[in-house]
Amino acid sequence: MQSVLDNRPSLKAEIDKVAEVALYLWQKGWAERNGGNITINITEFVDDGMRSMLAITEPRPIGTTLPHLKGTWFYCKGTNRRMRDLARYPMDNGSIIRILPDCAHYEIVADKPVAPTSELPSHLGVHNYLIAKGSPYKASVHTHPIELVAMTHSKHFMEKDVATNLLWSMIPETKAFCPRGLGMVPYMLPSSVELGEATIRTIDEGYDVVMWEKHGVFAVDTDVMAAFDQIDVLNKSALIYIAAKGMGFEPDGMTAAQMQEMSVAFHLPK
Ligand SMILES: [Zn+2]
Repeated sequence: MQSVLDNRPSLKAEIDKVAEVALYLWQKGWAERNGGNITINITEFVDDGMRSMLAITEPRPIGTTLPHLKGTWFYCKGTNRRMRDLARYPMDNGSIIRILPDCAHYEIVADKPVAPTSELPSHLGVHNYLIAKGSPYKASVHTHPIELVAMTHSKHFMEKDVATNLLWSMIPETKAFCPRGLGMVPYMLPSSVELGEATIRTIDEGYDVVMWEKHGVFAVDTDVMAAFDQIDVLNKSALIYIAAKGMGFEPDGMTAAQMQEMSVAFHLPK
């Protein structure tokens, strides 16, 4: 069967990265059933041939108007689709959509009429914000990392930057590769407008990774692999913390001076 990815190696490479990350999410136990979402802005890979393609669905409302998405294209995981299936067949479990000129509707262009995630309005809201800010970020990933979610069941860890500083102090790489830390959003109904707005506010405060209390993380970065890496290093730190606790002691953590030394040596933002 023909695919829009045929003879478009750079677009295919981006979708292949989504499939690879989807497999990691499943293997890590972070993507039970249809849990999690990935949305990537693929506008830079769209050529004239794609622009002239007819849609395979009628226009559908986004549910909100997002003025900075004029002329943009996205690959989105399908609603009710499993990450483990997407890993093998990304174009059967997700679709390529384009935003219509009114910035309030989208249509599916390829390969199959797979309806995008129910989280589409909040994911697109974040992309609308990123474009408005001139950000180079093109990918958003939502998933359920077990140990990070477990931490949010503690009021203490939900306080601003308590989890960030603990996780940074477990191993130097976490501060280097998740340099803006972990923003915390209190529990809100999944898929709600309020949760989407709180996520954007938290990204705007300077975080790339946002923790939703008792639910999961939402990460943004230049591409899907980089967004995954930020979540992965944070969860690695959580595992080190748990391992130390399991050995019966509270881990010392790197000192404030050691973490400051990292910031200077690697020109980190915080
Ligand atoms: Zn979720």
